[in-house]
Amino acid sequence: MTNPFEIKDIRVYVLKPGSKGGTYFKAGEGHWLVDTLISNPMHAYPEYREKRSSWGINVLGSLIVEIESADGTIGVAAGSGGMPAAWLVRHHFDRFLRGQDSRNTNMIWDQLFRASLPYGRKGLTIFAISAVDLALWDLIGKVRGEPVYNLIGGRSRDEINFYCTSPHAKAVQDLGFFGAKVPLPEGPYDGEAGLRRNVAYLTEQRAAIGPDYPLMVDCYMSLDVPYAIRLAEACKLLNIHWWEEVLSPEDIEGYRQIKQAHPTIKFTTGEHEYTRFGFRRLIEERTLDIVQPDVMWVGGMTELLRIAAHASAYDVTVVPHGSGPYSYHFITSQTGPAFCEYVAASPDGRSIQPVFGSLFMGEQLPQNGKMRLSDAPGFGMELADHDMLARVE
Ligand SMILES: [Mg+2]
Repeated sequence: MTNPFEIKDIRVYVLKPGSKGGTYFKAGEGHWLVDTLISNPMHAYPEYREKRSSWGINVLGSLIVEIESADGTIGVAAGSGGMPAAWLVRHHFDRFLRGQDSRNTNMIWDQLFRASLPYGRKGLTIFAISAVDLALWDLIGKVRGEPVYNLIGGRSRDEINFYCTSPHAKAVQDLGFFGAKVPLPEGPYDGEAGLRRNVAYLTEQRAAIGPDYPLMVDCYMSLDVPYAIRLAEACKLLNIHWWEEVLSPEDIEGYRQIKQAHPTIKFTTGEHEYTRFGFRRLIEERTLDIVQPDVMWVGGMTELLRIAAHASAYDVTVVPHGSGPYSYHFITSQTGPAFCEYVAASPDGRSIQPVFGSLFMGEQLPQNGKMRLSDAPGFGMELADHDMLARVE
């Protein structure tokens, strides 16, 4: 008898040039995510200061993984890492998948992680593992006819509340989101004048939305401890709801110093950390108010669930970074906060568009800042058009 969960084939794709789909940085020139002044680690170099696209934030592109089971069901997931990640899946990870039972997510994850340890551990390799893991969960859900949230603990809440990341807090408020997260424009390399411009920008954002609407600030790994302490002090009257990713992912001790300086201000980080091993100290130090793993980067749903379990034992809140429906299924299944990030996908950051562009059919969008996740099988999404994709052999 055929086992409907047995993996028969794995196919990997990147997007053809000009396709209007993919992950966060698909849009390229003209999109606020890559094309506006956002403080970032490359601000040390004036020639790369103005646009994150100038130093290659979007260079890797997207990866699409399809896993087909013996009964012809296809699980699919989008991920980051483009051609290099696709090559890894095709030429290294394929052997651990073909013929395997797709329900064996723990063992498959462990084999991919251990087999890639000599070159992996973080970053690109874990992007590739994440995409495979999410495609497996999608496949299992589709074979069973169940949404992924039912496979990972069931429905813990009927509705998800969203905040939105965009450079325009007032536009976010007008769209019905409960809060707005804006990117910090300048960093330590922009000196005292840059610090004053940061305070002026945040003052303007606060004035536009009123005193009580939650306003968060994303610093994209670009500050150092003294600057972060000074900036938080200078913005005390602006009632910043949290400061995100103020330090390099390597400076875990730095968060302790910042928290000592500002015990009642909230700090968050984690979107550029990888696996439960990377999150171990972020959780156990207990200096962060929220950790923010990205399910498409951190190791997929299998690893996110482990990180959440670890964090819950330390009373550290987990709210995933972006990641669209993959995060919505996680949030729906969890008993922690029922809110989630939506990264404004439109070029001007002022309207709601699918996180993955036109890549999928079935991607649910927040309505008036809220969502009740459907019970469509898997992650509820199907590839819209294979003509957008270039297969990687
Ligand atoms: Mg962020």
